[in-house]
Amino acid sequence: MNDTKSSLPILGSDTLPQTLPQTLASDAASARMGGCGSMGGTIPNPEKNTEKIFEPSRRLPSWLRREVPKGNANQFTHGLLRELKLETVCENAKCPNRMECYSQKTATFMILGNVCTRPCGFCAVSRGRPENLQDDEPERVAEASARLGLKHVVITSVTRDDLPDGGGEHFYRCVIAVRERTGAAVEVLTPDFIRHRHGLDRVIDAAPEVFNHNMETVPRLYRRVRGPKSEYRWTLELLRHVKERNASIKTKSGLMLGLGETREELLECLADLRRYECDFLTLGQYLQPGPRYLPVVRYVPPEEFEELRLIARSMGFRKVASGPFVRSSYHARDMAEDA
Ligand code: SF4
Repeated sequence: MNDTKSSLPILGSDTLPQTLPQTLASDAASARMGGCGSMGGTIPNPEKNTEKIFEPSRRLPSWLRREVPKGNANQFTHGLLRELKLETVCENAKCPNRMECYSQKTATFMILGNVCTRPCGFCAVSRGRPENLQDDEPERVAEASARLGLKHVVITSVTRDDLPDGGGEHFYRCVIAVRERTGAAVEVLTPDFIRHRHGLDRVIDAAPEVFNHNMETVPRLYRRVRGPKSEYRWTLELLRHVKERNASIKTKSGLMLGLGETREELLECLADLRRYECDFLTLGQYLQPGPRYLPVVRYVPPEEFEELRLIARSMGFRKVASGPFVRSSYHARDMAEDA
């Protein structure tokens, strides 16, 4: 079945709640936070002093065209990451927010190398045979966090199905090193550890303040988007498992919109996340990183993202960030602190 053609567009205002809780109005400003850079695709355009989203075959809607001023503000972040030989998901996944985030001296560290063992159809991170672990990486992540002055450090990784523990021990060491060096809160954005559940437990042992594992899409599209090894049900179980082992950890998940999901499928997915006690939610627009990746089926307008944010809040998520440029780690500190 061709998922793309069989899908209906999400959202129709006729099915929105007629009234929404009054308290939700004050959350309007929070619709800027976001998720993992893996939904992005941008190419710098130095000639015109702007970044343009790379979308090979269709015109972008106006709300996805934005000008990013040139300047030196992000050079410090860029240079520090180079000096310490650290990877970020911001660059590897071509996140459209990276100039903004770097200029604010923030980034999402990507540990365990820059080559992933999964063939996800949406993600620009390289795939293939990964390199050996770098034993000093936890200290270098801690050093960068200290020199950037981060109070909330986000650490993600490629998926390492080749490692006996999926990289869980390395995650643990990175969280502990950052905490000991900086005292910062730590948010992890992890792979599914589906064959390495003891590795997952090791990450939980580190007691990060926020544990994020992205849903990415609805069940019908799951394997097409996330690859044959992924399981929708396990994603939910993972989030519940985190809470069962350490109830003080905030759980977080996110979805990309515009991959062909229907409104009903999306709302069922959000209800599932709430059933599994997920605290924070991010919703962002999927952007095709290049011609080899899954196509965009629909560009969701900003007002629909706002409607979804209100609906999700009414379902019980403690914080919701919903907008075209939202990614898991975009303004992650704001989300965690406000909660
Ligand atoms: S939104 Fe996240 S992944 Fe994207 S540039 Fe900012 S910190 Fe990096």
